[in-house]
Amino acid sequence: MSCGVELFNIENLDEPGLMRLYLKVTRYGNLLRIEAVSNGAHDLSIDRNPATLESANNADQYVIYFVNELDRGDLIMAIGHELGHLLLINKYYLKIDPILYVLVRDEEILQAIQNVTHHLILVDLLREEYGIHSDLYLSLIRRNLGEYLSDTELMQEVKALRVFEYEKLVGRVEDVVTAGTQVKSFQKAYESADTRFGKYGFKHMPPSNDYKEDIITFLKDIGQIRQGM
Ligand SMILES: [Zn+2]
Repeated sequence: MSCGVELFNIENLDEPGLMRLYLKVTRYGNLLRIEAVSNGAHDLSIDRNPATLESANNADQYVIYFVNELDRGDLIMAIGHELGHLLLINKYYLKIDPILYVLVRDEEILQAIQNVTHHLILVDLLREEYGIHSDLYLSLIRRNLGEYLSDTELMQEVKALRVFEYEKLVGRVEDVVTAGTQVKSFQKAYESADTRFGKYGFKHMPPSNDYKEDIITFLKDIGQIRQGM
């Protein structure tokens, strides 16, 4: 197994939909490279989180990392998924306003908000426009929900976003007690997420300004930033 940087040439996958998406995303010039890494690097795990979009150099530049053990079908879905995130950032300006990193109490919530709201849009967008399916992502969230919910390090609000996403993309979470719904901060975040982001989807993509407003209102609802800011 190689330990060095393993640059990946997406053309090798010879997948027209993925290539179209790649060309659209790279038009903005902020995707530096796609890199194959071994399982465990960059917090990646083949069973949990096989690819990631990371910002590089603390700037609006990005690198996609993926676990080099993925087979071709999963690789197309995994890279397509990360390119989808970047498309929403680049083309639709659906991204976290940097000022929020200063205003918010726990930064952890911001990435969770961006991920979950993107996913509500991405699954249909990738399938309808690029013929890229999300079976890999959906099977991962199905398999890992229980583990997330029993993770004592994770904020209740982040868990609530996960459950909200799960119910939108997969189906009812049966075991609502272990889902934490008896905890007030969980309940509040779940209800607010449903109110602010519940309509989001490929056919209901929020304009960038509304997206920012919805995020700020959500953060106020859950007490992450002060009312009146
Ligand atoms: Zn994602």
